[in-house]
Amino acid sequence: MSDYWCERAWLPGPGEPGSPGEPRGHIAESVRVETEAGRIVAVEHGVPAADGDVRLRGVVLPGLADAHSHAFHRALRGRTHADGGSFWTWRQGMYALAAALTPDLYERLARAVYAELALGGTTAVGEFHYVHHRPDGTPYPAAQGGPNAMAEALRSAARDAGVHLTLLDTCYLHGGLGPDGHQPLAHEQARFGDGTAEAWARRVDALRTAWADDDRVLVGAAAHSVRAVAPDELAAVARWAQDARAPLHVHLSEQPGENQGALAAFGVTPTRLLHDAGALGPGTTAVHAVHLTDDDVALLGTSGTGVCLCPTTERDLADGIAPGLRLARAGSPLSVGTDQHVTADVLAEARGVEEHERLATGGRGAFDPAALVDVATSAGHAALGRPGAGRIAAGAPADLVAVRTDTVRTAGSDPAQLVLVAGAADASDVVAGGELVVRDGVHRAGDVARMLAEAIDEIWAAAERDTERDLTHDITRGSDA
Ligand SMILES: [Zn+2]
Repeated sequence: MSDYWCERAWLPGPGEPGSPGEPRGHIAESVRVETEAGRIVAVEHGVPAADGDVRLRGVVLPGLADAHSHAFHRALRGRTHADGGSFWTWRQGMYALAAALTPDLYERLARAVYAELALGGTTAVGEFHYVHHRPDGTPYPAAQGGPNAMAEALRSAARDAGVHLTLLDTCYLHGGLGPDGHQPLAHEQARFGDGTAEAWARRVDALRTAWADDDRVLVGAAAHSVRAVAPDELAAVARWAQDARAPLHVHLSEQPGENQGALAAFGVTPTRLLHDAGALGPGTTAVHAVHLTDDDVALLGTSGTGVCLCPTTERDLADGIAPGLRLARAGSPLSVGTDQHVTADVLAEARGVEEHERLATGGRGAFDPAALVDVATSAGHAALGRPGAGRIAAGAPADLVAVRTDTVRTAGSDPAQLVLVAGAADASDVVAGGELVVRDGVHRAGDVARMLAEAIDEIWAAAERDTERDLTHDITRGSDA
């Protein structure tokens, strides 16, 4: 286990004695960070490096938290723009991709995706995981890894990539909301479903037991959305999370269509449905929360429900702009996620929270740089069931990212405002759980671009084989009829 000496580091608390307002992060010079067994045990500033210290240049921030990831969506990056379309047409492409995944292919893709995130400074990922079963919806047999084969693939990928994983195991039981209520899963959604909330809970209980001794992973819960989980099932998932003291995440009002569906079927908004099911509270994180009424904002804020914004995805999929400042003022801690991985850049997501506010309001500075660092670090880790992480302080996990101040993007900037200019490409060194995962911009696993290209090529080749097989099957069936 190494100790680190940082040219500059972002430490918790006020920069000047007697600073007004809440204790905020600030930059200190010449900071030594001692680590032991994956945790920070001492932090001193204004001191020289000791023999053997690993030197970190630039500004060292706490490791970043990507609070919302669907690792396999990375294979869609740069492939969905030719025909325009909408969120719903994008989703059809995503289903074709999901159908091609096997545990082995998914492990290789996720390893590359998590390594890409690590290169950009991410040290903890919240994987909103719903591709559970074989394409026909039946569980993987024991010989192929059992009912949690896909989760195990993700755990292995995260370990190799050197990131902490919170697996948000997602309950996904229905195909959508029609005027008569919830519809059955469509053929392409079959592998997401466990049949019932009780069967979901049994499978996730087994996963928690299997992972209990691994301190690099956590098992949390997710309900896919009010489209995919009915009110009584939402209540069951929420109870499971409360009993397990595990984080609960849920997609919320990303698109107006979800609100219309909930209003038509139940006469209330998705937020109100979650509230009535007992699914809101400080342990819950609502993801997106774009299309909200004033009442929704109040329900989320007063319950202390966290909100995870994914600005680059919300732009890419034409979702809209979430009311970030109103939510924060109402009482919701904000975190960020890369979601569909249109970028793998948590700093860009954090900056997007402020940028979207500027576009929506015509004003600047709703979130100052210190607030955005909190969004990218401590608040994100807390949303992933890692309270106390995301701070450079004794007792916290030894998660650090050194951000260069001498690149073409960052040269000349005030280091205290780095979060508004720096991005994944400026992260040079990354420490996760006390291990140096990225050094001088190179991931310990090797050439990450190549890992991505090979895994993505293989998955699309498998998807094409699936399509050909389905066509052949249809033709055969047609001639039989
Ligand atoms: Zn999502």
